[in-house]
Amino acid sequence: MIILSTSDQDLDTAAQAIQKGLLVVIPTETVYGLGANLWNRHALARVFEAKKRPSFDPLIVHIAKTGDMAEIADTNVPHALLLAERFWPGPLTMVLPKKEKVPELATSGLPTVAVRCPDNSVAREIIRRSGVPVAAPSANPFGYLSPTRAEHVIAQLGGKVDFIVDGGRCKLGVESTVLDLSVSPPVVLRPGGLPIELLAEIIPDIRALSRSESSLKAPGQLPSHYAPRKALYLIPQGLVSEAGPRPAANSAILCFGQESSYKAKQTGLWAKVLDMSPGMDSVEAASVLFEYMHELDSQDYTEIWAELLPEKGLGMAVNDRLYKASFKG
Ligand code: AMP
Ligand code: MG
Repeated sequence: MIILSTSDQDLDTAAQAIQKGLLVVIPTETVYGLGANLWNRHALARVFEAKKRPSFDPLIVHIAKTGDMAEIADTNVPHALLLAERFWPGPLTMVLPKKEKVPELATSGLPTVAVRCPDNSVAREIIRRSGVPVAAPSANPFGYLSPTRAEHVIAQLGGKVDFIVDGGRCKLGVESTVLDLSVSPPVVLRPGGLPIELLAEIIPDIRALSRSESSLKAPGQLPSHYAPRKALYLIPQGLVSEAGPRPAANSAILCFGQESSYKAKQTGLWAKVLDMSPGMDSVEAASVLFEYMHELDSQDYTEIWAELLPEKGLGMAVNDRLYKASFKG
């Protein structure tokens, strides 16, 4: 595995490697992606193998510009082009009817394909120079915490990929919102970096899957996902100091907001209190969620506890990750 910078020459190296069918980890604004040439079946197979990802979990295809969407998907679907114009580049993945030539390995045999144009100039430049659409799931072993720094990828997948482009910390830190436009009305299959409230301005009858529906109806959205190795327990918003939580000795807690962190410290129940956003900003909380979980998972705390966010803005995406990360099947 070779670590690349974002220099012009290294971007060329990364792009050529993808084009040739090698596995290249690229930074995006959401999380790091494990990139492969969509037209190279061997490379796609290696993505599933490296992640130990089940073959029923389809990949998101990344493109450099909206104009490249028509090569892989039917864009003649209500809202598709308008949403692309409004939210791309950005954390919105659209599920659209696929073009015949898109390999079924990438779509897990579905007649649809998930497409996104990332809001990260390094990612877009690598894709553009590679000359091919880039299939890229999050660059973590299946089921584990998503990577928001190159170091996370090196620690988790280092030996299994060919190149890692170090683009620093991912600005958004949480995965894209996945919107299925192949059904009417459109359905949000996974809450993510683009708040559903913004989508609802354009699609008033948009529907979001409930938590229990999500693992049944959204391909790959298993009830347990995004999980640290340690046990994770959740606390309702604002209730960190209420009677109830009995953390094991030397446990840590992620709080949302100054008031909660203050109360959590006062209880003396936790050895470490981290605040996802002292000012209660869900965007800030989303940007540090995986980073803080990686940190707590790698240090010697016994359990991780986390306070849920209000269900609005990116709070929906953060809570979705927390619920799935804490699920014990
Ligand atoms: P990841 O790239 O790891 O963030 O996960 C991609 C997720 O996008 C998958 O787990 C699916 O839930 C969703 N997805 C990808 N392709 C499709 C598709 N054709 N239909 C529905 N959901 C999809
Ligand atoms: Mg993932």
